[in-house]
Order: sequence, then structure tokens, then C-alpha cells
Amino acid sequence: MLALMLLSLVMITPMLAWNLTGEKAALGLNYTLRSAQLASGSTTTARWNPCQQAIVWRVNLSGWPAGQRPAMLKQIQTAVARVTKVTGMKYRYAGTTTFIPRQENLASAPADIVVAVINPKTTNFSFSENSLGYGGVLWATWYGGDGEGAAVVRGYAVLIPSGMNKLKPGFGPGNRQGNVILHEMGHATGLDHVRSKAQQMFPDLTAKSPNGFATGDVQGLTKLGTKAGCISVPSRVNITDYN
Ligand SMILES: [Zn+2]
Repeated sequence: MLALMLLSLVMITPMLAWNLTGEKAALGLNYTLRSAQLASGSTTTARWNPCQQAIVWRVNLSGWPAGQRPAMLKQIQTAVARVTKVTGMKYRYAGTTTFIPRQENLASAPADIVVAVINPKTTNFSFSENSLGYGGVLWATWYGGDGEGAAVVRGYAVLIPSGMNKLKPGFGPGNRQGNVILHEMGHATGLDHVRSKAQQMFPDLTAKSPNGFATGDVQGLTKLGTKAGCISVPSRVNITDYN
């Protein structure tokens, strides 16, 4: 039964991006970051501008039983707080939305990040029947007289009610809802999968999943946060400028 509770692979979106997914885990690192390809052909880490005022996030809990939505929201808020603690980035909760993340509509999301607990049939990510969630980022790239660069401009985390329902609520080691939320928020921050089962970014949730973010997850998140420095995003860049 535990083996059935698989986390689906990340992927999605910027077409260039997902070709790179997963390859770097072989390097022996306990974290993997996404690479954005720039116009010159060089690459840079795909990350949020950690100096933006706040990363605004909303939830769509329409797929979760109404009476349990406050508890689910609380778990998500705890997960966001844990990401903040490691990355130093500021997040601002902006309430609920009916927005359903789909492969083609992420640019028009009503917040920087939407966390959606929804019926997977209403979206078009490639879930399997064992999927627990799906998450990722979109980034913009630019080039011109002011140089070139990239910055993440959207993140999303989809949680699948039928899978989440089978897990113990809250945080802790092993098969917990909190670990799924942290895993998907890791994707929404820019982390990719790793091959180490000791990390939360291992693609499968197992009875041996760590209690929250493990050392490698923290190392990766640190490289995505304020310690990595501000990204100077030209004002002409808007969120339709995807690669
Ligand atoms: Zn994943």
C-alpha cells in the first residue's frame, strides 16, 4: 500500500526546462535546482527574485471536504513558513481562489503561487492514479542592453485529495500530508527531484521519508533564497515573457 503512494514527477512548462530535469541528480548532490537557458546559450539557476516584496499565494481547497479546509489551510501555512525560514523569502497569503492550475493557464494565475487541492480530473497535468501531487515553477528570461537573466514568476502546487486522504495529517516522518505539501512547495520554490531517499525531494513518499526538509533540501532551498542575492528584473519583463 505504501508503495502505491507515489509522488508524480515534476515537469511541465518551460519547454526548455524540463529536458534538464532529473539529470543532475546523478552528480551525487542531495538537491537539484532547475536551470534556465538564456539567449546566449548559457544557463542560470531558475529562482525567484528573493528581494521581491512578497511572493503572494492563494489556495483553492475546493476538492477537500469543507469541514477540513481550515486544517488543510493551516498545514499549508505551516509549510510556507518552513520554506520562509530556510529561504528567507517573504510570502503573503492572499486568500482563496477558484483558479485551477493547468498546463496552459499558469501565466494567468491570480497569485504568484496557487496551492490547489482539487479533483485531478479538472486539470491536465499527467497524474497517475497513485499521484499525491504536482508542483513546479515558470520563469521569465530576458536579454538586451541591460544584459540577460531569468527569474521565476509563477509557482504552483497541486495536491490530490484521494491520495492525501490516505495519509496521516500533519508533519512528521514518513507518510504524512505535511511532507507532500513540503515536497510540492519545494517544487514551487525551484527544487527538482533527487535520488537520495533521505531527502524530501525524493520523488516518492515512503515510510522512510524524512521529517520535513532534510539536509540536502535545506542546502538547495538556501541556494534559492536571499543568500543567493537579488535578481535585478528589468521593468520591461512581464509574466508573459516565458521561454
Ligand atoms: Zn515531485
